[in-house]
Order: sequence, then C-alpha cells, then structure tokens
Amino acid sequence: MTLRFLIIGGGPAGNVAATHAARLGAEVTVIERDVIGGAAHLWDCIPSKTMIATGAAISFAHRIEGMGLVQAEPEVDVASLTDRIEGIKNHMRDDTTQLLTSQGVRLVHGTATFESAHTVAVETRSGTELIEFDACLVATGSRPRIPDWCHPDGERILTTRDCYPPKVFPESVTVVGSGVTGVEFVHMFSSFGAKVTLVVSRQQVLPGKDPEVAAVLEEDFLQRGVKLLMGARAESIERETNEDGVEQVVVRCDDGRVVRSSHAVLAIGSVPNTDGLNLEAAGVLVDRGGYVPINHHCVTSQPHIYAAGDISGKLPLSSVASMQGRKVAEHVMGLHTRDHRHLDYDKAASAIFTEPEIADVGLAEADAFATGRKIRVTKVPFSATPKALINHDSRGFVKIISDPATGVVLGGSIVGRHAAELISVIALAVTANLKVTDIAESLLVHPALSEALAEASD
Ligand SMILES: Cc1cc2nc3c(=O)[nH]c(=O)nc-3n(C[C@H](O)[C@H](O)[C@H](O)COP(=O)(O)OP(=O)(O)OC[C@H]3O[C@@H](n4cnc5c(N)ncnc54)[C@H](O)[C@@H]3O)c2cc1C
Repeated sequence: MTLRFLIIGGGPAGNVAATHAARLGAEVTVIERDVIGGAAHLWDCIPSKTMIATGAAISFAHRIEGMGLVQAEPEVDVASLTDRIEGIKNHMRDDTTQLLTSQGVRLVHGTATFESAHTVAVETRSGTELIEFDACLVATGSRPRIPDWCHPDGERILTTRDCYPPKVFPESVTVVGSGVTGVEFVHMFSSFGAKVTLVVSRQQVLPGKDPEVAAVLEEDFLQRGVKLLMGARAESIERETNEDGVEQVVVRCDDGRVVRSSHAVLAIGSVPNTDGLNLEAAGVLVDRGGYVPINHHCVTSQPHIYAAGDISGKLPLSSVASMQGRKVAEHVMGLHTRDHRHLDYDKAASAIFTEPEIADVGLAEADAFATGRKIRVTKVPFSATPKALINHDSRGFVKIISDPATGVVLGGSIVGRHAAELISVIALAVTANLKVTDIAESLLVHPALSEALAEASD
C-alpha cells in the first residue's frame, strides 16, 4: 500500500520533504495556511536579501570613484523596488508550487490541527476536512518574538515582517537586537541612507561569533555613521509626539539611555509556531520553549511523526530546514541505512549578508580554545589577492582552522566580498573531512578571491 505522508507547512522544510518523498513514491499532501514557500519566501530570506542586494548596489555606487568612474548618487524608486521584491517572491512561490504539483503532491490551503495520532483537521474556506496519515511532518516554522514591553504597530514600531514591501524608508531607525537579523537590518537601512542606532545587549555585535569577525563589522558600521549602543538592554519602545508635533519612537534602555528615531525595528529572535496545533492530541511532546524535540532522524516522541525546520529548535536557517526535510523524506521511505549520513548541525555553513559579508562553518577558534582542543589557525587577508585590488575592495580575510596533527579542515570563517559563496569550499572540506592540502593543491582560478583560500590552506 502507498504510504500516506502528510506535511503541515509549505516552507523550506515542508516543500523539500514533499518533493523528495513524492519522488520516492509516497502519496504526499501538504497543508499550508499562507503561501507555498513559507515565511522564508514571504518575509524572511528572499525579501531581506533582495533589499540588501539593492542596498549593496547603492554602497558600491559610492565606491566607484577609485575604479576610473565618476561618482553619481543613485536614487531609490520605492515603487520599482517593491515590484522587484514582489516579483521575486511570486516567482519563487510559483516555481515551488509548480514543482510540488508536477510531482503529484496534493496541496490543501488551510490551517491544520491534530485530532489524534493519525488524523489532522484542516480549516479551509469551504469547511473542515479530516485527513488521515501514516506518517506526518510538522514544519510550521516560527514568527518574530515580541516581548510584553513592546507593541509593534506595523507603522513605526516594526517587527522584521513589517519591513517588506518598504512602505516608506525610515529617516532614522533604532534596531533592537544585534544578532544576525539585527545586523542585517542595520546594514540594509544604513545602505538606504537612514540614520541608524543599534542597541547591543553585550559588548560585541553578533554575540557568540568570532570577536575578530564582529570587529570588522563594527568598524564598517561606525564608518557608515551607525551609532552602537553597547551593553544596553531595551526595556520599552513607545510612540511619542515631540513638542514640534513630530511623531517619533522612543526606545528606553535599562541603564537609563534613551534613543529617539522615526522608526524602530525589533529583531530579538523568534518563537516556534506550535501553539494551536494541538500536538498533545497526537502524543507529540513539546519543550518549555514551544519547540518540538527530535532525534537525529527528526523523529519526535511519536515514531511516525517528524518535526523539521525552525520548530525543531536546531539552527534556524532555511538551508538547515531544507536538508532536514530531505532527510525526513528518506527516513519515511525507509532509505536510512547504516551508511546514511546523519545531519551534523555543527557542520552547517551560515552567512550574514552585511558589507563585508560574513560566513563561517564548523569549529570556531573560540570554541576550540574553550575546550582546550589543539588547532592550527591560518589567516590570509583579501588584500593579498590581486582580485581584491581589481575589485577595488580589499576588506576582510579568510581564516581556516585545521587539525595540526592530520591537516583535516575543521572549520573556517570568511569576511569579505562573496564570503557566502566562498565558504562553500570550506564547508565541503569540513563535511568530507578533506585536508588543507586538498584545498592548497586544487588548481583554482586566477585572478580570483578563492586564491586567499588556497593560500590560507598552504
Ligand atoms: C529576517 C530574516 C531573514 C532570514 N534570512 C535567512 C537567510 O538568508 N538564509 C537562511 O538560511 N535563513 C534565513 N532566515 C531563517 C529562515 O527564514 C527560516 O529558518 C526558515 O524559514 C525556516 O523554514 P521552515 O520550513 O521551518 O518554516 P517557514 O518558512 O516559516 O514555513 C512554515 C510554514 O508553515 C505554515 N504554517 C504554520 N502553522 C500552520 C498550520 N497550523 N497549518 C498550516 N500551515 C501552517 C506557515 O504559514 C509557513 O508558511 C531568515 C529569518 C529571518 C527572520
């Protein structure tokens, strides 16, 4: 009998699991309450990176003077930028929907709730549909975390989801939260000319990242005129009208510091979309934070129910969600053998789309020191490569971390132009246990930024 595989959520975890399981022969149904592609396409990865790419073009225009060109001030056309974002989002949605339907996946538009360990009820426009399943994947994603001291209004006090399409470009903006999302928003708004203040709760932006990497970003922010409020925790964000009748947003911090700006953006993490799913009815355990604990096959406390993507509480990345979806499909269809490669979250590459870009993978230098593990660290600045000079941008460096005894590549970070692309080489080396000599002896292109990778491996 064909296995009935039900997937709740059509984001990266859900849609990759669906296409893969359908190809492997399952009868797949996907329930999605918004649009196929999920938050990743609608609010997160795609719109943010589209805006950042336009912002990068503006920054580049400011640097062309040294390239034999006369500088010109680009002007933002909000309507065409909005069209561009919507166009890419729609394209991605249509492509993904077409891929699913071409594989015979049934799409149901509605909100799912568990009735039992083998039945889900879906609220659709035409009523309630009960769907029975043999195996189920819960991939309902997450939403921005909103603390009780802040009430986003979608106008001036914004969550990351209120920024696209850009209704207006803030004249000044206070970003609360200096993790990956926060710094990307700082970068984006400052590229578009806003006066930006970043509220940083610790003494370093990007807490937990390599301090040397964070320092490069802090320097870029300061050069752009971004005000960094270090060691400050926001405790209220309110709208006020000043004595000249001007509307503003006031962010108050716990140490008494106050920031006034035209807008504020809250970027302090996310919460999982597990409330309302009635997971208890299916016998699926949820932890205190609302995440669904999983084993290395993404199996929950119920052997036939899986969880993947942001709700699994692993790395909140679209790339990780997709890979989990793929692994779930293989497990559901019985393809997990002894040789099956489990997902190793410690080997996930990630990037921060600021300027310069930041990317890393595998073991971090600080973690090695913390555990007393012996490592070899080699660092090469991009300024040592001719391509960086040709590009008129020699900011940043490549850092490779390897095992001094075996030469096996354990991790690395890249700061600089195209870091998100270049990190793939180190990610492959980390995943496949390659040695530094494997990179150093690869015949790479000249002139190219990848020459810094080869040099750092030599
Ligand atoms: C601003 C921002 C930028 C980001 N940029 C990047 C990036 O550049 N690269 C990257 O790798 N990651 C990025 N991320 C993270 C990435 O967006 C998430 O990790 C990813 O979307 C998680 O995928 P998912 O499948 O778990 O969930 P989602 O993409 O959130 O999809 C879940 C889907 O489930 C649906 N759903 C929820 N409940 C129900 C229900 N009861 N019934 C039916 N449907 C339901 C939702 O409508 C949604 O469509 C970013 C995040 C943010 C906030």
